[in-house]
Amino acid sequence: MVAIILGWNPRLGNDWNYEAVIEQVAETGQFLERWNIGRHRKIQPGNQAWLLLQGEGQHGRGLIGHGVVMSESYEAPQRTEPKSSARYVSVSFDAVLPLGSQIPSSVLTSEVPDVAWNTFRGSGRSLPAESEPGLQRLWREHGPAASEPCRIVPGTYPEEAVSRIDTNRYERDPEARRVCLAFHGTSCAACSFSFEVSYGDIGKDYIHVHHVVPVSQLGGNYRLDPIADLVPLCANCHAMAHRGVGNPRTVAELRRAIAAAGHLPGQILDDRALTAQDDAHRILEQH
Ligand SMILES: [Zn+2]
Ligand SMILES: [Zn+2]
Repeated sequence: MVAIILGWNPRLGNDWNYEAVIEQVAETGQFLERWNIGRHRKIQPGNQAWLLLQGEGQHGRGLIGHGVVMSESYEAPQRTEPKSSARYVSVSFDAVLPLGSQIPSSVLTSEVPDVAWNTFRGSGRSLPAESEPGLQRLWREHGPAASEPCRIVPGTYPEEAVSRIDTNRYERDPEARRVCLAFHGTSCAACSFSFEVSYGDIGKDYIHVHHVVPVSQLGGNYRLDPIADLVPLCANCHAMAHRGVGNPRTVAELRRAIAAAGHLPGQILDDRALTAQDDAHRILEQH
């Protein structure tokens, strides 16, 4: 997947309220903004976008954000000079660092030498494909991951490597898991599914452990209580607990959802299903 580097020079008349951007990304997981891509043309929806803080301001240069390109490129009036136009794409920024916490260009230059980080001007340049793993590793080690244990921070892994279920480090802690399962058992707390009952030996002791505490409560003083804060969930319920929400659904919410569901809206049995049912009755009666 092609990635693009976008430049941000706060002194060049940018009206971005960066504090508000950080806040919104923390709350909702994204901030949508159109971004100048200079003369860059080879950019498409789905491309990764890396945001480079530029200028010789008090904070210095450095890698400060990550996002995903959401649109084809388009021509639009410039914010600062509405009479002239420039080339833009819409970017969904999904991980941003506070000013001052960016990965400095000295580090970028030594770890990802194929890009001229120190002299990069303007906005919109391809990141060489061979530089991508190095940049992802840097972002993993120095980016927002350290302060956000509860989700896999966008940009830290190749997309295809990221599981659809974001587990956090509490869910992966083997000792906490042991204590949780010793208390709660290994059946799903939401739907009672047991891997051992369904799969026999190969399912024995298999269950996900899910961390129920909202991200907002994980301050510096947070101490995990493996019995109160972790519950066993099957893989399906675990996926549904996290699907589309920043703060996971509670076990009670999952149970309510399961109870209220059971059929697809508007679903009726078609002829084939009815025939199959009749066949089944017939076969059962024969024996
Ligand atoms: Zn379940
Ligand atoms: Zn979970």
